[in-house]
Amino acid sequence: MEEVRTHSAVHVVKGAVQNVLGAKWTASVFVSGGHGRLTVQFDRKPTDEEMARLEQAANEKIAEGAEMLEFEMEKQEAEGHFSDSIYDLFPVPSDVTILKIVRIPDWNINCCNERHVDNTLLIGKVKLEKPRFRNAKRELELGFDLAE
Ligand SMILES: [Zn+2]
Repeated sequence: MEEVRTHSAVHVVKGAVQNVLGAKWTASVFVSGGHGRLTVQFDRKPTDEEMARLEQAANEKIAEGAEMLEFEMEKQEAEGHFSDSIYDLFPVPSDVTILKIVRIPDWNINCCNERHVDNTLLIGKVKLEKPRFRNAKRELELGFDLAE
C-alpha cells in the first residue's frame, strides 16, 4: 500500500513539475517504499523558491482530495484525444494497442500500468529533496519522501 501511495504521488509531483516549471517530459521514475523519484528533462537547476512552490503545489493538490481516474482506451483514440501528453520519454511497447491511462483532472494525465489510490488525500503529504541537475543530459532529478 505504501508503494501505491508513493507511486500515486509521482503523478501528483509530475503534474506540479509540469504546471510550476513547465517541464513536460519525464525520462524515468523510481519508487521504493515511501521514497519516490522522477527524472525530467529541464534546462537548469530550479531555484529554492521554485522548489518551495513545487512542494506547495503538490501538497495543495493532494489536500484537495482530487480523484485519480483510471481507464482504458485504444492507443489511436487516446493519441487523438490527448496527443503526446500521455507519454513519457520511456516508450510504450509497440505491440500495445490498448492503453491504461490515469488522470488527475486538470493536473496530470499519463498512460501507466501501475496501481493508484482513488483519491489524492490517501497520499498524505510529500517532502521534496534537494534537486540534482545533470547538465550534460539536461536532466533534473527530483526525489521525495512521503512525509506521513
Ligand atoms: Zn501510475
